[in-house]
Amino acid sequence: MGVHLLAITIGLLKNKNMPKFYVGQKIVAIRSHCQGFFKEGQIFIVTGVFAPICKCPEYLITIDVPFPEGVIYPRLDCDRCGELVPYPKEAGEPLFSEILFEPIVEELSELSIEEAISLVSPIGI
Ligand SMILES: [Zn+2]
Repeated sequence: MGVHLLAITIGLLKNKNMPKFYVGQKIVAIRSHCQGFFKEGQIFIVTGVFAPICKCPEYLITIDVPFPEGVIYPRLDCDRCGELVPYPKEAGEPLFSEILFEPIVEELSELSIEEAISLVSPIGI
């Protein structure tokens, strides 16, 4: 029974690997990119979410940041796991690890009073 439970737990952990972001989400860079594609604090909208292609478990995202003009990246050179993998053609723009970003949660104080009330009160009361 212990082994069975362990197998279930491992299965759950594997399935736990879900993308951190969704397309259209507003995010902020929490670190500057090592090759200068963006700086810490810059805000982006997620334009694409891609399953991991190197050994790292994190998903990859595009943020409407283009490749430098005239530069073609044939491979993704992961500086964390060291793997070189062919660049997915469908990406069309540089892929970045989701660990470089955090979601932006709008502050409640930025909402209008009507919006704030609608969040806490059922309609019609
Ligand atoms: Zn990697």
